[in-house]
Amino acid sequence: MRYHRLMLEGSQSKLPAIRAEDGIALFLDLDGTLVDFASHPDDVVLLERTRKSLQRLHERLGGAVAIITGRDIETVDRITAPVHLPIAGVHGLMRRDANGQVHHMAVDDEALERIRAQLDVWSKDHPGVLVERKPGAVALHYRKRPDLEDACAHLMDEMGGGLEGFLLLRGKSVIELRGGGTDKGQAIKAFISEEPFAGRKPVFAGDDVTDEDGFRAVNELGGVSIHVGESAGTVAAYRLDDVDQVRGWLADVAEHLEAAAAGTEVRR
Ligand SMILES: [Mg+2]
Repeated sequence: MRYHRLMLEGSQSKLPAIRAEDGIALFLDLDGTLVDFASHPDDVVLLERTRKSLQRLHERLGGAVAIITGRDIETVDRITAPVHLPIAGVHGLMRRDANGQVHHMAVDDEALERIRAQLDVWSKDHPGVLVERKPGAVALHYRKRPDLEDACAHLMDEMGGGLEGFLLLRGKSVIELRGGGTDKGQAIKAFISEEPFAGRKPVFAGDDVTDEDGFRAVNELGGVSIHVGESAGTVAAYRLDDVDQVRGWLADVAEHLEAAAAGTEVRR
């Protein structure tokens, strides 16, 4: 049987060998995985090389490539344009399937709007703290004010900690209150039950605590979970060091899938 190694070997990273015949479905987090963080979330940049890899993988995997992110769908489209992928946005609160149909989870918008208004008032008194309004969620960013981490955590806990139908999520320099009671794991499971993902082996790469639900889901499904960055406390089975390594890895996977399709071996 022809055998293609899709992963780098001999680097510090711990990566699985995936063969073209495994028929993978690829699920990717955005921030800290495909793009480096910026001081303002609007300023992140998807490098041309990554954009190209996404396009090549989308073609080679029969469309089975999806972004699984805390961002909303519109923002992801803007960042990846002109590449247009299936997306689970706001941690699965909204999901655009491979047919372009968008699925929404129900949220208590009135409660959410009340909290957003309170956060707006609070952030005005605390320069550098940013309130991001997302459909079905609100995020408080304190990347520019690490001194306010405890205050932000306390505030969010006070407002949303016990609120029915809502989840508090802590990420890197951000705390998010999200309605709809869904997570990245459920989003991946929803995709894998549909074409063109169905019957494929899920591979998910992410860097943050909210990605742990996704890792758990793909582990359950017999897939491949990859944590990006320092991996203390993760349930992911494999790791890549940083966004740069993700870039190299994706290009490598694309190259090998193309070579497999063309019936040629790739020499390393
Ligand atoms: Mg991330």
